[in-house]
This record gives sequence, structure tokens and C-alpha cells, in this order.
Amino acid sequence: MLTLSDATWKQMLAMMATSRPGVERVAYLDGVRTADGTSLGMGIVTTVSVPYAVQSAGHFTVSAEEMSRAGAHLRRHGLVRLAQVHTHPGHDTRHSPTDDQSAYSGKAGAVSIVLPWHAAGGPSPTDGTVHVHDGHGWRQLSQTDAEAFIRVIPATVDTRPAALIAPAGQPGIRSSRGRRRWGPWATIWAHVTRRR
Ligand SMILES: [Zn+2]
Repeated sequence: MLTLSDATWKQMLAMMATSRPGVERVAYLDGVRTADGTSLGMGIVTTVSVPYAVQSAGHFTVSAEEMSRAGAHLRRHGLVRLAQVHTHPGHDTRHSPTDDQSAYSGKAGAVSIVLPWHAAGGPSPTDGTVHVHDGHGWRQLSQTDAEAFIRVIPATVDTRPAALIAPAGQPGIRSSRGRRRWGPWATIWAHVTRRR
């Protein structure tokens, strides 16, 4: 089972959306493994990595050098690469032969999620197709299996009544001086919190 927060997933989609229109996007989900190698893809995602890829309408490539750059933080922080996410131009999210060959890993437990329409419209992980590597090859999960395999959890939970939530500003300080000092961040944060 792969566990990730909704905030992490949204962040990944936001980063993918900054690619130029009409090209395949790719990102990696990194984190900590929560079981040994016998359980396929068990882990908790903490980090989204977007590599410098050569992107085109129906293809992307990450060179060995760029792959290494996009993985330099793993060892430093004791993380592992848990999954690859990439996009296809249309609704077909099956692995192409190239996807099978050039995925980030060909080892048991590797996970590859393919999202349709270049991830436009904020798809969930299971709006695409989830593939897992079983040590022999890539296997496509059914919708039911994919939904059981990927668990999206909330990054924050706030059960306070709306009336008790103070206007946003510098934490704990309500003076206008504090707000001025925090400048645009106070305004952005106020927008974010008011939407809830
Ligand atoms: Zn592909």
C-alpha cells in the first residue's frame, strides 16, 4: 500500500502544471518504506521530485545524469523512491513498451502511475492507471485493486467551529504592524483559510 497526503498529491499536480502545454510530464514520489521487500510498494510518500526531463507530446526521457540529480536527496534524507507518475496525452493510461523499459525502476515493488490528459483537471491517482512491478514485469492493477493500494489521506484536519477561527495574521499576534511585517504572506494565508 502506498500512502500519501492530499497536499502532496496537489503539490505534484501543481508542479506538473508548470510544464509547457501538450507535453508528457513526469514526477517521482519519494518517501519511507514501511515494510520489507516482500510486500509490493509499501511506503509513505513525503516528497515529490520533478526531474529535468526532455519532454515531447508522446514521450519523456530523463538522462542518467538528471536521474542521479533528481535522486541526490534520497540518501541524504534516508528516503527511497516509491513511485513514478507520468502523463499521457489522451485517455489511454496503459504502459507503452517504452514505459515498461524506461521506468525509474524494474525491480519488484516499483510503482508507476499514468495519468490521462497530461493531468489536467486535477485527477486523483486512481483516475489514471496504477502499474506495479512484480519482479518479472509490470502488472496493471484493476480499479478496485488500485483504490485499495493507494491511500490518499488528509494533510490537515480542523474540527474547530468556523466562529472560533481568528482572522489570519502572524501567529498569535493580531496587531496590524505584525500583518504588515508578514506582507503578502498574511494576505495569501488569509485567502487560503477563508476558503475553508
Ligand atoms: Zn507513458
